[in-house]
Amino acid sequence: MNYFEKLLRPNIARLKPYSSARDEYTGDEGVFLDANENPFNSPYNRYPDPRQRVLKAKIAAIKGVEPGCIFLGNGSDEPIDLMYRAFCEPGVDNVVSIDPTYGMYQVAADINNIEVRKVLLTADYQMDVPALLAAADDNTKLLFLCSPNNPTGNCFHIADIEAILKGFKGMVVLDEAYIDFAPGKSFLPRLAEFPNLVILQTFSKAWGMAGLRLGMAFASPELVQVLSKIKYPYNLNILTQQTALELLDSVSEMENWVKLLLNEREVLSAELAKLPFVKKQYPSDSNFLLVKTEEPRKIYQYLVGHKIIIRDRSSVALCEGCLRITVGSPDENRQLLDALKKY
Ligand SMILES: *Cc1c(COP(=O)(O)O)cnc(C)c1O
Repeated sequence: MNYFEKLLRPNIARLKPYSSARDEYTGDEGVFLDANENPFNSPYNRYPDPRQRVLKAKIAAIKGVEPGCIFLGNGSDEPIDLMYRAFCEPGVDNVVSIDPTYGMYQVAADINNIEVRKVLLTADYQMDVPALLAAADDNTKLLFLCSPNNPTGNCFHIADIEAILKGFKGMVVLDEAYIDFAPGKSFLPRLAEFPNLVILQTFSKAWGMAGLRLGMAFASPELVQVLSKIKYPYNLNILTQQTALELLDSVSEMENWVKLLLNEREVLSAELAKLPFVKKQYPSDSNFLLVKTEEPRKIYQYLVGHKIIIRDRSSVALCEGCLRITVGSPDENRQLLDALKKY
């Protein structure tokens, strides 16, 4: 029996998935009269590959994992939702999450009618491991971590993540959306070491493909099979699959963007530090800066007036007075700084 099987919702453990025409016959060539498609309007007339085999093979090579350990979703938001639907019985089960963090864990919980037990980070934005473990009970199925964390920007201590993985008896979802910007290592090479680990990554940030909607979950092949049987059969359309396949050839371009953005982040941070209303900047391992100011709401509105949009995070736990600023192109960052200097 797999580690996670006893944690699954019984209806999901029993579920017999929809079998599509393209699941039963997987060859590329032939006369396709099996899916009630229109023979005209190629290539859009054909359903996409529901198993995304070509794209997964390419991602497997880039990430150094087996294709069977990869789940691909319509953004990371899809595997987040599927984890709830696979493991959490609405109105009965609960999850534990760090606080503050990415808002989608809470929204997906609310949609699925699942309680989120939030555990505050420490003052220096690290995890309170004993409190996180103590928040769990017999109905806690998932524990959400995000490193580097959004909106705080920092990575968590490796030893703390290990302690959670070893101490928590449910599934740990570790969101590594910003890992390409971080000096710390991904947990991906250690996937097999922790049977309860699910790692999320995305093509929306370092890879510059947010509009394509392509997210990844890495897990044991058995768990990937469970998520695959709950997803919409054709969750990734052919434009996303084909375009991503082409763009994945430019690993070096992505690496150059990351270098440029990390350099820009340091330039931007140094300039922000000179502004009188900037009280504090938090260390960032990502492509954004969390900046504490005296008048976050007014600064936000002032910038909107100049058609520069940042994120007001001042109402988020532990983020009093904070604005979150994405590192843009050199020109965009200059426009931001020019406007702020006149504030
Ligand atoms: C931006 C972001 C994502 C990306 O979500 P997609 O649905 O893949 O675009 C995931 N997690 C965190 C923490 C993020 O900030």
